[in-house]
Amino acid sequence: MSSVPTEILEMLGQTMAKVVPVTIALALLFSVLSHFWACNLGAPWWRKRELVTDISYWFLVPLFARVFRIALLVLVAALLFNIGDADDLIAFYDDGHGPLSVAPLWLQAALFLVLADFMMYWLHRMFHGGGVCKYHAIHHSSEDGDWISAARFHPVNLLLGTIGVDVVLLTAGISPNVMLWLGPINIFHSAFVHANLNWDLGPLRYVIATPVFHRWHHTAPNVGGNTNFTGTFPNWDILFRTFRMPENRLPGHYGIDDQASFPGGIGGQLAYPFRK
Ligand SMILES: [Zn+2]
Ligand SMILES: [Zn+2]
Repeated sequence: MSSVPTEILEMLGQTMAKVVPVTIALALLFSVLSHFWACNLGAPWWRKRELVTDISYWFLVPLFARVFRIALLVLVAALLFNIGDADDLIAFYDDGHGPLSVAPLWLQAALFLVLADFMMYWLHRMFHGGGVCKYHAIHHSSEDGDWISAARFHPVNLLLGTIGVDVVLLTAGISPNVMLWLGPINIFHSAFVHANLNWDLGPLRYVIATPVFHRWHHTAPNVGGNTNFTGTFPNWDILFRTFRMPENRLPGHYGIDDQASFPGGIGGQLAYPFRK
């Protein structure tokens, strides 16, 4: 019989076994693409400032997200549905529940993608309301944004973002099996929009978030940074009038206002919102 620490170790091992090959593939892909189509000239991603910080987030965030997603799902099932037994818990979440779980899996995946993107749009706007919130400032603190900066998020930002949204939709009944498709798509797409690429995908810029679209979001507010909040489908930004893609120009400078006093290491960054 396996104990809880053994199970946690196994889970960490499984997560790492997925993350390592994906990381190598993305590193190779974006090294080649940004060699030919860089948005901003300069050192390649592996010589960027705070690389160790970004790599630390890259490997820690999937572990954190997995553990907290499961913990929150257990908590919500206990509080809202009075489910405490392990077998009942598995039966409840395993293949979804209620009317949503009856729909074909592709439809559930599409629904998950669109609803999650809509909720994330508003949560992201909330984090930018009245200046960039300290928890979200960590994501904006990289001055050399690249694919490896995609995971630079404070845990509170993750809980009130992707983890919270996942828990809401899985609790609503969508099958967690949608993650088999959406998980890899989301990892690739979030690395893609942060990559140092000058791609705006022409007319598709209105359909799907691109590197140029998201790099504008990482610029200072007076240059256009308080725009392009959407993660996947820019239609939310178009609909709510926050879309910004200047013609014949590329975003150039990234970071936050108090860059000079902002900690560069992951420890200092995690403590940053609680400091002042
Ligand atoms: Zn932001
Ligand atoms: Zn970003």
